[in-house]
Amino acid sequence: MQLLETIKTVGVLGAGQMGGGIAQVAAACGLDVVLVDASIDIAARGKDRIGAVLARLVDKGKLPADARETLLNHIRPAAAPEDFAPCDFVIEAATENMDLKVALLRRCDAALAPGKWLASNTSSISLTKLAAATSRPDRVVGMHFMNPPPLMKLVEIVRAVQTSDETHAITKALAIKMGKTTTTSRDAPGFLVNRILLPMLCEACFALQEGVGTPEDIDTGAKLGLNHPMGPFELSDLIGLDTVLAIADVLHRETGDDKYRAPTMLRNLVAAGWLGRKTARGFYRYDENGNRTGASQGASRFPPPR
Ligand code: NAD
Repeated sequence: MQLLETIKTVGVLGAGQMGGGIAQVAAACGLDVVLVDASIDIAARGKDRIGAVLARLVDKGKLPADARETLLNHIRPAAAPEDFAPCDFVIEAATENMDLKVALLRRCDAALAPGKWLASNTSSISLTKLAAATSRPDRVVGMHFMNPPPLMKLVEIVRAVQTSDETHAITKALAIKMGKTTTTSRDAPGFLVNRILLPMLCEACFALQEGVGTPEDIDTGAKLGLNHPMGPFELSDLIGLDTVLAIADVLHRETGDDKYRAPTMLRNLVAAGWLGRKTARGFYRYDENGNRTGASQGASRFPPPR
């Protein structure tokens, strides 16, 4: 696709687990990346985390040391969305919060030249609402990477009501250039993947609350009984419990369907700041190397009957 050749510099907004992974994937296919977070220090720390992930690959002999250097040289940390001025395509991957995303996308929109594209990695928020907040709604699209972006093959492309065919086509071409397989979803709460996933994650939590089984029992049941690569609590801890709760709340509010209501235990863990792997504690506890050390106190408040 000829238009794809016009995309040389990609902006990534949010240098957390998803933004960092997206920046890594974009740099790995030779694109220049401007990586922005709430401050340049946070963005630089995001780049350092990418460097550490790549260093482990070098140690294991899976990546040549010079390839690591080349990839990192493609990533430039920057301070604010205003630094996206030279970018051809911006992918927003900030915290899952509608007001925050609207405010950030407006700033990206003001910084970007006309004719450039704005994508959001949102897990659940209406792309149509996000697009309507900008001056280029036909050039706004959902580009929903899976976690972790360097390993997971799927990018779910979400078409806002306003997204043009050309924007859809270039987003698909860009995802393929990044080595991904795409699916396309209409703009509906949770799109396709999270509409299916969230009821399962929440149901596992309701079962835990009711004392039907321990987190380990439920995760083992899903892995060995359903052939899932990860159990629902392992996956929730990986996603981030704040993100899981935010998605459940969007699904519940937007559909009005109680099957999407969030369990109290999930809400409590988030209120405690126990967000999963990123805070070393969620449904499970983790040591400084990310190894699981046991169940979290919050998840053992509802012990199963003996
Ligand atoms: P995260 O908490 O790891 O990272 C969020 C980042 O946003 C943080 O670095 C934070 O500093 C930054 N941020 C917050 N306020 C900001 C601001 N004002 N300006 C700039 N940056 C700001 O979260 P994450 O898991 O990377 O999720 C990011 C997005 O990706 C969310 O929309 C989430 O729904 C989506 N997503 C997450 C997953 C997952 O499994 N975690 C999967 C697919 C999509």
